[in-house]
Amino acid sequence: MKTNGITRRNFLIGSAAGGAALLSASYLGFNSWAARDKAAEQLSVTPTLCDGCGNWCAIKVSTRGDRIWKAEGHPLSGNNLGRMCAKGHALLHEVYNKDRIKSPLKRVGQNRFEQISWEQAYKEIGEKVGAIKAKHGPESLFMLQYPEGNAALLMRFIHALGSPNAFSHGTTCFLPRNVGWWLTVGASKPEHDFANSRFILFIGRNPAAGLHLRQLRDITLGRDAGAHLVVVDPRYSEIAGVAQEWVRIRPGTDLALMLALAHVMIKENIYQKDFVEKYTEGFDEFAKKVEDYTPAWAEEKTSVPRETIVRLARQMAEAAPSAIVHSGYHGAMGTQYKNSLQLVRAVGCVSGLLGNFNQRGGPYLAPKPKLGKLDKETHPTPPAVSATMADGSGDPERYPLVPAGVGIAQAIPELAIQGKLKAGFVYHNNPLRSNPNPARVIEGYRKLDLLVCFDYVMSETAAIADYVLPESHYLERDDVVHTSSSYSSKQVSLRQQVVKPLYDTKPMVQILIEMAPHLGIGDFFNFTMDRWNEAALKPLGVTLNQLRKEGVIDVGGEWKPGEPKFQTPSGKLEFVSSTLQDIALPAVPEWEEPLVMPARNDPHSFRLIHGKQAHQTHARTVNQRYLKEITMMNDWGRVWIHPDRAKALGIKDGDCMTLSSSIGKGRARARVTDGIHPDCVFMPSGYGVFSRHLHTAFGYGISYNDFLPTYFDPVLGHNMSSEIIVRIEKT
Ligand code: SF4
Repeated sequence: MKTNGITRRNFLIGSAAGGAALLSASYLGFNSWAARDKAAEQLSVTPTLCDGCGNWCAIKVSTRGDRIWKAEGHPLSGNNLGRMCAKGHALLHEVYNKDRIKSPLKRVGQNRFEQISWEQAYKEIGEKVGAIKAKHGPESLFMLQYPEGNAALLMRFIHALGSPNAFSHGTTCFLPRNVGWWLTVGASKPEHDFANSRFILFIGRNPAAGLHLRQLRDITLGRDAGAHLVVVDPRYSEIAGVAQEWVRIRPGTDLALMLALAHVMIKENIYQKDFVEKYTEGFDEFAKKVEDYTPAWAEEKTSVPRETIVRLARQMAEAAPSAIVHSGYHGAMGTQYKNSLQLVRAVGCVSGLLGNFNQRGGPYLAPKPKLGKLDKETHPTPPAVSATMADGSGDPERYPLVPAGVGIAQAIPELAIQGKLKAGFVYHNNPLRSNPNPARVIEGYRKLDLLVCFDYVMSETAAIADYVLPESHYLERDDVVHTSSSYSSKQVSLRQQVVKPLYDTKPMVQILIEMAPHLGIGDFFNFTMDRWNEAALKPLGVTLNQLRKEGVIDVGGEWKPGEPKFQTPSGKLEFVSSTLQDIALPAVPEWEEPLVMPARNDPHSFRLIHGKQAHQTHARTVNQRYLKEITMMNDWGRVWIHPDRAKALGIKDGDCMTLSSSIGKGRARARVTDGIHPDCVFMPSGYGVFSRHLHTAFGYGISYNDFLPTYFDPVLGHNMSSEIIVRIEKT
């Protein structure tokens, strides 16, 4: 395939070059191509936001006539600093993907849909929701979404219907990270001054694949300026590839390492005493707790040599306060283990010992603009819903730490089977593929009396819905104003229409506004999206027209190092969490065994771990054909296994293996590599699509969710997605 001097193959080879190459500002820019294009002057440029992952990088998209032509990163955007990744470029093509849904659809039989008008869809959904509410109450309705910019409007929608059941993907992604930091420092997502740090430690986090373009730039700036970069991971990840040191740890035991690091720092009296005295609470209790967590004890748990643990503790302390332990995301500090919440708490406490909070080269709370709201006189807000969520989120007796609006998404099928949930709206989410134990998820969602899916392709979930309402592609629509939280100053940005919708699709917010009167909640949606956005921008002194023109506007408030401010009940960094104490949960971080461990003497027994690749965002991007080609060219769908373990099973590189767990079975080819801990195998996430409507992704690879039983962590209800034991045999 050849297009105007650049071959697709060259483009893809460049795309596959890995995380380090993605740091180049000119990388994948189409400047040279555009310069050679005689018609370049005919291009018109619209600033908007990428939708390839949760970063929402600001981009500038050029069109020629009514065609998308190219895109570049927006230079002012704090998230990406003028850069774009391979996913961002590839997803531009999705406007023209033949798999797109072209009009509202109504199910008329097993795997049979008919096209209907928007009016018919709204009317029928309105009637069905009305009947379900009358018979089972508003608490039988739910909404599940990926929590992005439109989240506030989706929340308004479900609350207007009288239901508290607003779910996101938090319990399958990030919840322990958010709650752990909130308990320890009073805010859920610390940022990091990587560029000025002298020591940077990653624990089960891989920003070179779970991409964050600004962080990657800053990490390499810090490293090149002399910071020691250490990656603790069972796998030689992409970020390990740019670090000075990879510490191969037994999966599920990062908590033991952090407790032992704290032990050494306290025992050797090398922690930041002034900071601890002035800004922390409960140090003595914490110090007593970690007395037993010696490096020798931690070596047993983690397989990391005790000398390494002592050395790392000394190096960190020496660099403090300009030392960082990354705040985590989806990995070990996300929802993967039973001890993930304790791990985040322990990382917070080690940060207390390092005295690094709000210091140059340390973690800090990024300033974020405060948006305005619609005038309540003219645009009434729905009354507060007093009922608690059906899954027990927020209920003091069940899951008091799970926030409303997050919920426990993997509980929905069970609640549907029990008859507690009867109708659902699913937006920008695909629980049939992204939740554990698909057979059970399908059974549960099929029990619903009504399932309405908002999507632009027929995902697994859309394929079993009663109605599918097609959202316009992200380059065809406006969304609500976005605030940046990952930059040292405050920014606002906007996703806006670049090209007219190709098909009979609408922006999500428009669908809600038009559907609301049919559901009896029109009074709460008596505005336009422009009106909503103008109200949001008003306190910032920015107009919608300015933002449309610029794409990104910096509204000041730059972060500066200084005195830390903690929003905990004590106003300090809490070694002893007063919130956990109040609800009678372990208030000081302590060792907790993972839920499951592979059998030590069984050569077939492994833990299954998983993670993102730099060119895919889970199942969100795998139907993109250029990204699929990157996977195929590099044979990146394989499952990683250690050479010693592979040899014992007679498995050679490229051989087919059968993996089986308590709930599932599947086959994958082996990538035999010593870049993986012998106790586990690694599966890249996002593959294993089983919707036949997704013609590129269908049938390639397998998903860890096919092997993951439905778990609920006792404190947060998260899915503990790496607590999987698989049996491996040569096929
Ligand atoms: S990191 Fe890549 S996919 Fe994610 S928003 Fe930025 S450009 Fe898009």
